[in-house]
Amino acid sequence: MSRREFTLGILGGGQLGRMFTSAARTMGYDVVILDPDPEAPAAHFASRHLCAPFTDTTALNDLARSCSAVTTEFENVPAASLEILASETLVRPRAQAVAIAQNRILEKSFLQEQGIAVGAFAVARCRESLMHGLRQVGLPAIIKTSRFGYDGKGQYRIDTFEQAADLLEREPTMLPVVIEALLPLDLEISVILARSAHQAIRFWSVAENRHRQGILDVTIAPARIPEVLAQQARDTAATIAQQLDYVGVMAVEFFVSQGRLLVNEMAPRPHNSGHYTLDACVTSQFEQQVRMLAGLPAGSTEQLRPAVMVNLLGELWAEGTPPWALLLAQPEVKLHLYGKQDPRPGRKMGHFTVLGATLEQALSTAERLRQHLQRE
Ligand code: ADP
Ligand code: MG
Repeated sequence: MSRREFTLGILGGGQLGRMFTSAARTMGYDVVILDPDPEAPAAHFASRHLCAPFTDTTALNDLARSCSAVTTEFENVPAASLEILASETLVRPRAQAVAIAQNRILEKSFLQEQGIAVGAFAVARCRESLMHGLRQVGLPAIIKTSRFGYDGKGQYRIDTFEQAADLLEREPTMLPVVIEALLPLDLEISVILARSAHQAIRFWSVAENRHRQGILDVTIAPARIPEVLAQQARDTAATIAQQLDYVGVMAVEFFVSQGRLLVNEMAPRPHNSGHYTLDACVTSQFEQQVRMLAGLPAGSTEQLRPAVMVNLLGELWAEGTPPWALLLAQPEVKLHLYGKQDPRPGRKMGHFTVLGATLEQALSTAERLRQHLQRE
C-alpha cells in the first residue's frame, strides 16, 4: 500500500488546520498543509508544509498527488484551486458547497430557496440599490461585504442614511454587499454536524454562543434552550447539509430573535463554537473531520461533561504573556494555545475549556478565571 493512502491534505494552516493536523497525526496519518504563511500554526504539526499562495498551481498539484483526500480549514479558498485539486484527488467538502458558504449573497439566496427562515435582508450592488435596500430593511442595519468577512470584519453598523453614504464614499470597493436588519437577539446558538459520504448525519450538542464586538467570546454546551428549539435547529442544519450534498464537518450559526429561529450563516468546516468537543466529547469535531475525509465511520458525538469554552484574544497579551499558571492549576480546565507569535487585538490566540459536574459550575469557574486573567 502506498503512503499516499495514509496522507491527508488541508488548505490553510491556521488554528483549525492545526487541530485537524494534530488529530490526523494522532490517528496515524501524514498531513500536508498548503499555506503561504511560513509561521502557519499548523506547520509545527504537519508532515510537510507547502509554503505557497492558495492559487499556486505547482503547489496544488503537489498537494493533490501527495494526498488521498484534501479538505479546507477556511471558506475563502478560490473555487479554481479546489477544482485543480478535484481533478487529481478527493476533495471534501465539494467546491460548490464551499462556493455558497463563502459568499453571503449566494448563501442567503440558497437559504431562501430552501425555505429556511433568515432575518430581513437586501442585496446591493450599487449606490442606488444600497439606499433602496436600507429603506426596505429599515434602520438600524448591518452592511456586510459579500466575501472575505470573518470575526465581525467587513461589517458596518448603520444608524442613519448619511452614515451609509459616508461609508460608501470611504469604501467604494465594498460592493456588492448584503444589508441585514439589526435583529434584537435573545440568544445565539450553533449546530455542528458531520455528514458522511453515505449520507449519515451526526450532531454534537447544540451550543450557546456569546459574542463580543462581533467575535465569539464564550460557548456554553449544551445550550440552555428548550428541546423543541434544539430539534428545530438540528433539523434546519440537516436540511442545509443534505441540500448541499455536504461531506465533512459543517457548522450552522443561528439567531434566536423574539422567539424565532433564524439562520445567520454557515461554515463549511469545524467551528470555533465546537472547540469544546476536544475535551468534552467522545469524538472531537477535528477527529470527525479526519474520519469524514478518510471515509472512516463516524465516531460518537456524545458529550461526556458539561463544558464552557472561552476564547483568548490578542488583547490579553497587552502586558506580556498571560499568567497561564492560573489556568493550569485547575484540574478541570484545558488550555489550548495556537502557537501564534503576534498577539494583535481581536486575534484568536487560543482558548480554554472548563469542564464541570454541572453547567452552572463550569460557567461560574469560567467567568472567575476569565476575570482573573484580565486583571493579573
Ligand atoms: P462573521 O463571519 O464575522 O462571524 P456574522 O455575520 O456571524 O459574521 O456576525 C458576527 C456577529 O455579529 C454575530 O454572531 C452577531 O453577534 C452579530 N450580528 C451579525 N449580524 C447581525 C444582525 N443582523 N443582527 C444582530 N446581530 C448581528
Ligand atoms: Mg459568524
